[in-house]
Amino acid sequence: MTNETFKVEHRYLDLPDSFYSRVKPTPLSQPKMVCFNHKLAAQLGFHVQDEGDWAQIGAGAELLEGMDPVAMKYTGHQFGVYNPELGDGRGLLLWETIAPDGTRWDWHLKGAGTTPYSRFGDGRAVLRSTIREYLCSEAMHGLGIPTTRALFMISAKDPVRRESIETAAALMRVAKSHIRFGHFEFAAHHEGPEAVKTLLEQVISLHFPHLIELPEPQRHARWFAEVVERTARLIADWQAVGFCHGVMNSDNMSIIGDTFDYGPYAFLDDFDAGFVCNHSDHEGRYAYNRQPQIGFTNCHYLANALLPIMEEDTVRECLGSYETAYNQRFKHNMLAKLGLDETDDADMALIMDTFSMLHEHRVDYTRFFRGISNLHRHGNAPVRDLFADRSVADEWLERYEARLQKETRAHDEREYAMRQVNPKYILRSYLAQQVIMEAQNGNYAPMKELIKVLENPFDEQPEHEHYAALPPDWGKHLNISCSS
Ligand code: AMP
Ligand code: MG
Repeated sequence: MTNETFKVEHRYLDLPDSFYSRVKPTPLSQPKMVCFNHKLAAQLGFHVQDEGDWAQIGAGAELLEGMDPVAMKYTGHQFGVYNPELGDGRGLLLWETIAPDGTRWDWHLKGAGTTPYSRFGDGRAVLRSTIREYLCSEAMHGLGIPTTRALFMISAKDPVRRESIETAAALMRVAKSHIRFGHFEFAAHHEGPEAVKTLLEQVISLHFPHLIELPEPQRHARWFAEVVERTARLIADWQAVGFCHGVMNSDNMSIIGDTFDYGPYAFLDDFDAGFVCNHSDHEGRYAYNRQPQIGFTNCHYLANALLPIMEEDTVRECLGSYETAYNQRFKHNMLAKLGLDETDDADMALIMDTFSMLHEHRVDYTRFFRGISNLHRHGNAPVRDLFADRSVADEWLERYEARLQKETRAHDEREYAMRQVNPKYILRSYLAQQVIMEAQNGNYAPMKELIKVLENPFDEQPEHEHYAALPPDWGKHLNISCSS
């Protein structure tokens, strides 16, 4: 392997030394390529003949010329409590490459061994959780939601101790940035105003270039407002597809507004507003319906970290844009899901009543919205069948049909547009579980097929109908282990 293909930069190393530690990966043994994302590689500007060539790199046994691995230092609030000891405990930033279209990509190898920030951890990632991260980052991308991406993953022979002995794996995660809210918390609470400013200017110059020319107070204010808005919009997008992140600690919040760090996440099956997917989250801090508020809390932590270099009033004003940005995006998403183009004062009430109904009757969230995207094509049976009490569905459908009278778009046109926002296929927990069980027996074909289906979640894909089915009884409320 040579690096001739890549235009390399490693701008993270421009930051002060305290922001990272140089660490070589601890190699894994006898790595096998599990899955390689050729489409993404093409976007990054390279093509691969033999996927196996990348296995040793995934195992941390080889580096390409120009790779200079570092563990990033950050801190953050975990479940509301500040933890100064964080940092990349099992992942390394290898380098940054510039794609032919000019896009910057961080390459981060997750599961590469211990670092100075590993605390009690072993620096490893297991096959199960690595597959879950791979699947979900690609599923999110398919849904059009900003996210880190999965370039490839390997499995290895090394045993890893969790509740039981598991198979080691590693993921080459790529993203336009791996900088988290927690990087700013580290800078502010341990390094001082200069460090915050250096970090902020770096983030602006790499990821918010349209702000570079603004004079300083406005540049910083505009930047923070944009981070707040991106965060609010991201969470409104999660709510619209029924995604629960599970661990919205501030060290898992991307500064560019990507979905970041997939742990015990879940997509809702039966709608339950208070659903908690993280079994260690005993208080339900990160329940589905609390995500919008938690996003704001995290922006607050970031705001505190900016106080050393920004006026308090400015920071407060920027925080104020969260609610507006969230509400606008949420309403926009829900109107699109309902196919409502015309404005009607009663629409917000319709949206909230729809959520209440779905919650009260535990209706499958994805199939409900896909069902109403086909009402005039396929009739109302697929929607009615989701309700134990059909009269509840009938009442709602009557109200909805009445509202549709105010629309001017033709039915088929509206329903076509609705099918572009209401996915037929989502990454249900049981689907992930099934392909993991196959992978643990050495069969990666089901995982690859599932990834292909989730690449185009809005397409009918009649040959893959079974992936859109309701979960079987065993597949509801799976207990996903958090020890990843
Ligand atoms: P997470 O819950 O995955 O967001 O991780 C929180 C922190 O723990 C991060 O600083 C991780 O790098 C670290 N961490 C998680 N798992 C391990 C592990 N197996 N070994 C070392 N550090 C870990
Ligand atoms: Mg994390």
